[in-house]
Amino acid sequence: MADPKTAAIIGAGFGGLALAIRLQSAGIATTLIEGRDKPGGRAYAWERDGFTFDAGPTVITDPDCLKELWALSGRDMAQDIELLPVFPFYRLHWPDGTSFDYSNDEDALKREIAKLDPADVQGYGRFLAYSAGVHEQGYVKLGHVPFVDFRSMVKAAPALARYQAWRSVYSMVSSFVRNEKLREALSFHTLLVGGNPMTTSAIYALIHKLEKDGGVWFAKGGTHALVRAMVAQFERLGGTLRLCDEVVEIETLGNRATAVRAGSGWRADFDAVASNADIVHSYRDLLGTAYRGAQAARKLEAKRFSPSLFLVHFGIRGTWPGIPHHMILFGPRYRGLLTDIYDHGVLPADFSLYLHHPTVTDPTLAPEGCSTFYALAPVPHLGKLPVDWAEIGPAYADRILDEIERRLIPNLRERIVTRFHYTPADFAQDLHAHLGSAFSLEPILTQSAFFRVHNRDDAIPNLYFVGAGTHPGAGIPGVIGSAKATATLMLEDLRAR
Ligand SMILES: Cc1cc2nc3c(=O)[nH]c(=O)nc-3n(C[C@H](O)[C@H](O)[C@H](O)COP(=O)(O)OP(=O)(O)OC[C@H]3O[C@@H](n4cnc5c(N)ncnc54)[C@H](O)[C@@H]3O)c2cc1C
Repeated sequence: MADPKTAAIIGAGFGGLALAIRLQSAGIATTLIEGRDKPGGRAYAWERDGFTFDAGPTVITDPDCLKELWALSGRDMAQDIELLPVFPFYRLHWPDGTSFDYSNDEDALKREIAKLDPADVQGYGRFLAYSAGVHEQGYVKLGHVPFVDFRSMVKAAPALARYQAWRSVYSMVSSFVRNEKLREALSFHTLLVGGNPMTTSAIYALIHKLEKDGGVWFAKGGTHALVRAMVAQFERLGGTLRLCDEVVEIETLGNRATAVRAGSGWRADFDAVASNADIVHSYRDLLGTAYRGAQAARKLEAKRFSPSLFLVHFGIRGTWPGIPHHMILFGPRYRGLLTDIYDHGVLPADFSLYLHHPTVTDPTLAPEGCSTFYALAPVPHLGKLPVDWAEIGPAYADRILDEIERRLIPNLRERIVTRFHYTPADFAQDLHAHLGSAFSLEPILTQSAFFRVHNRDDAIPNLYFVGAGTHPGAGIPGVIGSAKATATLMLEDLRAR
């Protein structure tokens, strides 16, 4: 029998892990090489003073895309990880005290909408129909299809035109409902994948339908427990994970990737190489000696990158059954705040926060009688705001905690057992994230589908990409979809050889 084909995947983020499972399930001997001491990438985790802190993703949508990774080998995901339903999906809160519970319970949602403006209930119905249409076209049909040539884009063009993809999510939502708070409630989701609702293509309105149909879930034990379950599934299939060994070079010969070399001195030959690492880092630093690397990196550096994030993690004494798992604390401004962050590179005096409260769903993530939280504020990336985060970080974290104390948790400061923060500089350093961007390329229409990094390189045909910088983009369902697109190409190519 011929030796099995071999593949290397650089980076064990959700995209890298999903691709690894797909390849290994198909009989490709796959090695996953991760620079950090734990897998997960943006979904890293810390244990501090008995509290478990997830670093990044907390909202799990479309659980079916995850289940598929187990089903490939006839296993049930539930044997490895339990997903817990989250309800409401989010509580949205404004400075004037208005709050809005967002969920897929249609009657409850309509009651919430009617509280804001009864006239908008009808408009919401039309928005839902629009969201269902773009979900079918943009996610179900095209969310896991590789866009490697312009023909694929031309084929998608009629659907893009039908759904007015050139308009922004906010503009499209505004054509259906008139209440400003409701417009924010139906458009903020793009921020979860790095997009400004004012400029991100209306196609992203599909997230509403995605959440409505698939629900919002949280992994028991935290998102990192899901990462560990994916590693278990990959290793059970016979795959190899190397941790703490940063890749320093993808070796090439002519137009082929031939081997991968890591910082430890470890080196191995492969039939195919895929990178889940940051796209600029991959081209500029790992393919630096090949002409293709420098050329592609230069082009990418000229594109628009999503902003970064500033996160404050805190473990506190006391429990808050009244604070739901996911909250958005809107600030006094919406469009102005977003323009400051995305365009002006200003660190605004006001902020909109996402508050994560996992212990209300899974109390095991904190010591008895205590609670785990993180608060996240979008901030400009390092290209727009090149400040010294080591210097300003502590004061910025204090301001965020003050805001939460004022609006939600009295005496918060006195209750703190442990706290730390994570800045754009940390994204850049820990993940090689270009400009410290939290979500890679900004998801605007001119940087989507064919105009994103291709799942297979144009010049080196056995070099592939997977993850947030590729089609369809950031977010767990996005990068899991990108893994499906990349695996389709890799398996076709490896089998043809
Ligand atoms: C704070 C935060 C909250 C978020 N919340 C949500 C959410 O609730 N729901 C949701 O769906 N999405 C959310 N997202 C988005 C989502 O987390 C990301 O889009 C997704 O996890 C990115 O996955 P990825 O496959 O692109 O890889 P990444 O997570 O970027 O991982 C890439 C990996 O490559 C490794 N690497 C880099 N260079 C090298 C090298 N040279 N050698 C070896 N390894 C290398 C890195 O260490 C890293 O482990 C959030 C993101 C952030 C930052």
